[in-house]
Amino acid sequence: MKAEITYLYNSGFALKTDRHLFIFDYYLDSPKGCGLAKGVIDPEEIKDLNVVVFVSHSHPDHYNPKIFSWRKTVGQIRYVLSDDIKTSEDVIKVGPGQEYNLGDLRVRTLESTDIGVAFLILADGLCIYHAGDLNDWYWDGEPEEDNREMTRRYRGQIDTLKNESIDIAFVPADPRLEGNALRGLGYFMEAAGAELVVPMHFSDNTSIFEELKTDSRTDSYRDRIAFYFQRGNRIPYPKSNE
Ligand SMILES: [Zn+2]
Repeated sequence: MKAEITYLYNSGFALKTDRHLFIFDYYLDSPKGCGLAKGVIDPEEIKDLNVVVFVSHSHPDHYNPKIFSWRKTVGQIRYVLSDDIKTSEDVIKVGPGQEYNLGDLRVRTLESTDIGVAFLILADGLCIYHAGDLNDWYWDGEPEEDNREMTRRYRGQIDTLKNESIDIAFVPADPRLEGNALRGLGYFMEAAGAELVVPMHFSDNTSIFEELKTDSRTDSYRDRIAFYFQRGNRIPYPKSNE
């Protein structure tokens, strides 16, 4: 099954499959009128697609109520939102640790170690994982006990994915964690794995890709990492191995 990913910003992506356009954690809605080529959603451009918008939690770098304005233009559009988001819009609200049958897709949620949920989606012959802020937020300088508890909670969630065969995974690799930036991603690839893994949540700090390219901890899965550089970049699935 083929798909195409477009990088929007931070943890925001559009994923075009056979029959759907999935949009994850969209918030940066500028520059105006540029469309996917610049990492912006222009509803005109997607109006004929079957669109499902996922929002993992309410933090402003993951959620922008602007997404609801697309309804006016896009004929088929649904919203799947974590239930920590306060809105009176017509949406499908999801909580952690649940399964939802939405007809043409199935959604399972994990509990984030921050707030909200991570998504596991089965649709169009693909299994797709988007972590939201579910990560091993292991900060040097934090009390060791807190870090240990963080890792325990994170791994407990990721372990529930062990029997899944994930095609595409969006997983945080946040350079602010410094020496621990690849810790959560490393565990994810070891315990669950994915055919293609898309690092995210680095805002403008693309130095993380240098680390992903050279750090020996990524040796075992480097050929499955999507390397990209800026908003609007397209990532094909399956990965083209040039
Ligand atoms: Zn975040």
